[in-house]
Amino acid sequence: MSNNYLFALTITPIQSFIAQAKSTKDFYSGSQIISKLIQELLEVFLKHDIEVIFPKDKSIVSNKIIVKIDISDQERIIGELQQKVDEFLLLDTLCNGIKLKTDSKSKEQLQDVFKLFYASVEIKNGYQESYLELEKSLAMVKNLRPFNPIISKNICYVCGVRESYCRDNENKKRCSVCYLKSKYDDSRYLSTAGIASLFWQQNIDTRAYRKEFKSFDEALFFEENLDQEYLQRHHKMELDNRKIKTLKEKRNRLSMQKKPTKQYALINFDGDNIGKILSNGLDGIELEAFHKEFSTKLSSFAKEVKELISDEKGRVIYSGGDDFLGFVTLYYLDEVLEKIRESFETNVNTYQEPISYSTAIVIAHYKAPLHKIIQHSRALLDETKKRYSSHSTLVKGGVGMEIYSTTSLLAKFIGEREEFVLLNTLLGKKVNLYPLQQIFYFAKEDMSYSEYLQLFKMIKIELNRFLLRKEVGFSNREIVAIEKLLLSQVQESYIIDLENFFGFFKTIEQLSKDSYE
Ligand SMILES: [Zn+2]
Repeated sequence: MSNNYLFALTITPIQSFIAQAKSTKDFYSGSQIISKLIQELLEVFLKHDIEVIFPKDKSIVSNKIIVKIDISDQERIIGELQQKVDEFLLLDTLCNGIKLKTDSKSKEQLQDVFKLFYASVEIKNGYQESYLELEKSLAMVKNLRPFNPIISKNICYVCGVRESYCRDNENKKRCSVCYLKSKYDDSRYLSTAGIASLFWQQNIDTRAYRKEFKSFDEALFFEENLDQEYLQRHHKMELDNRKIKTLKEKRNRLSMQKKPTKQYALINFDGDNIGKILSNGLDGIELEAFHKEFSTKLSSFAKEVKELISDEKGRVIYSGGDDFLGFVTLYYLDEVLEKIRESFETNVNTYQEPISYSTAIVIAHYKAPLHKIIQHSRALLDETKKRYSSHSTLVKGGVGMEIYSTTSLLAKFIGEREEFVLLNTLLGKKVNLYPLQQIFYFAKEDMSYSEYLQLFKMIKIELNRFLLRKEVGFSNREIVAIEKLLLSQVQESYIIDLENFFGFFKTIEQLSKDSYE
């Protein structure tokens, strides 16, 4: 057998499939489904003793599988892969004991979700050349994907794409795919209220309180949900005011002083320019050797990150080797972020040529619509990457943070890691934004260089004066750091991103408000 062909496969959709979620259960199930599918596809190769280059670990949610294959096996393997993809959701539904309406349309929907794309290239003039060609072919095949918009009034409320044939527990319209997500059997998932209150729960015995309810969800830890409407709608409990009063008393006895935190964090971590790194390698290592080594490194990172977010800290949605998505309860946010960074540094970032990475942190109220928070998190990651890609020579990577109430954005700041270190040291300081904003009232866009210099001189003096005021109370060292922060807000053609600069102080204000109880 001569494995003289490089074979790459990818399935779509992955990101958008996971993101189609109205609850953490949908979100978690989506990722579990993808992860299971990838495992089954990998199994096909392993069963036939085919050398898998990416990914090295079966539990990784990787959007690409690369193997070395004998051309005479190829057709048979593709047949097996295609069959897996077509039947996967249908079988998964059966395995989970989920009953669907037996009409063929539901089945068709389940068979129609995932599309398999593949390409193969003979390794003639070395691995690297073949790999680059393979990447090109795969991208081309993926672009040929037909798009069939569905025109129907009866659309699923979760994905907003497929036609609805089922209704979920809340009597809302779902397609068979999103219905499967809502019925997926998983005891580990937690609601957003559950993630938010995770640390608070650890120090309290909630068993007796939970038994007061027919069914329990962690939103019941928050007093605002102990009312007739909520209990009727979500738990089918008809209670009079007296009973609700008793419940509230029992709730209050759980923790006399401390209240559960209402916010949670969604962390989105992603290595920068991984595609480019895979095409070119690092440190001049021969590409095939580099791929094998890098693949092993990524899987160590993926495994470690999964372990470091233990059950009392949050929940991992997926860990893909160079990217990671997960919920963390606020109390452990800083610790988890630091450990992810450390793990990436020691497991992956071990080459002379550094690999940068971006992190998006969205802190949201547990009642904020989850699908929007997921979208915000993705958009924030993209924006953070975009902002720092222009500084590519620095290879620093950035961090983006957004804080949401139930309905709106409260604060947003994108910066370098050191700027977040500064931000953390300033927590608790009160900066009145209005007088600060007044200092900048004469700043305008598209200045000439001389105007810009003049403006900056003035702003520096005013800013200094403002920050030194007794009621603001910044030390000289902090002022120097803030001036540096202001300088880093200067974009092309002397535009100063004031919104981001003020966002720094708004973020401090918001984070200072939330005591991590
Ligand atoms: Zn749907």
